[in-house]
Amino acid sequence: MLFDTHVHLNVSQFDEDREEVMRRAKEAGVEYMVIVGFDHETIPKAIKIAEENPSIYAAVGWHPVDAIDMTEKELTWLEELTDHPKVVALGEMGLDYHWDKSPKDVQKDVFRKQIRLARKVNMPIIVHNREATEDIIQILQEENAAEIGGIMHCYNDSVEYVQACLDMNFYISLGGPVTFKNATLPKEVAKVVPIDRLLIETDCPFLAPHPNRGKRNEPAYVSLVAEKIAELRGISIEELSQKTTENALRFFRIAE
Ligand SMILES: [Zn+2]
Ligand SMILES: [Zn+2]
Repeated sequence: MLFDTHVHLNVSQFDEDREEVMRRAKEAGVEYMVIVGFDHETIPKAIKIAEENPSIYAAVGWHPVDAIDMTEKELTWLEELTDHPKVVALGEMGLDYHWDKSPKDVQKDVFRKQIRLARKVNMPIIVHNREATEDIIQILQEENAAEIGGIMHCYNDSVEYVQACLDMNFYISLGGPVTFKNATLPKEVAKVVPIDRLLIETDCPFLAPHPNRGKRNEPAYVSLVAEKIAELRGISIEELSQKTTENALRFFRIAE
C-alpha cells in the first residue's frame, strides 16, 4: 500500500482522464493521496476531489511563485478552509527563487504569514523550496515551525541540510528526481533520512520518474519512486511502502 503525499490531480492536465488516472493509481497500490491546491482555481478543485473520494485528502496554501497575489482576503479564506474535514495540511508554501514573478521579500512575507496561520490553527505545513534552502530554514526556525512540523516536499538539496529539517520535526519527501540517472543529491538523501521521517510523492503532473521522465507524471508512478528508494536503502519495497504510508498517516493525522 502506497501513499502519494503530493499530487496535483486538480490541474487541467488531468481534466480529460482524471477517473482513469485515479483507477491506475489504485491498481498500482496507491491507496492514499493528498491533493495540493495553491491558488484560487486549484484549491476548490482539490477539496472537491477529496470530498468525492474517501482516501484522498487536500492541502491548501499559497504558492511562492504567486505570493504577490496573496492578500488578507486569501489568508482569511485559507483559515476558513482549515475547518474542512478533508483538509489535512497548509501548503504548498515556501520560497521559489527560480521564477521572479514575486519579489523575494514578498515571498518571505507570505511564507511567514502562512506559517503563523498554521501555528494558530495547529496544522502541519508543506514546504516548496526552489534554490532557497538557507532562507527557508532560517524562516522556519524564526517562526517556530517546529511547533507544528511539516514536509520538505520534493527535497532536492544536499544531505547537509537534512538534520536542520529533522530538528524542526520535519519530514523529508522524495519524488521522481531520486530515479533520475544523473541525480546524485536525492539518492544520497534517500539513504540517510531516518526511515520514520521519510515520505514519497510524485508532484504529478511534474517530475515523472525514470523511465517516464519528460512525460506527464501520475500517482501510479509513485511506485517507481518507492522501488528506487528501497533499492538504495537495501530494504524490500514492501517495507519501504509500509513505513512511508505509516509516516504519512501519522503526519497528516489520518485515522485508519
Ligand atoms: Zn512544489
Ligand atoms: Zn506541488
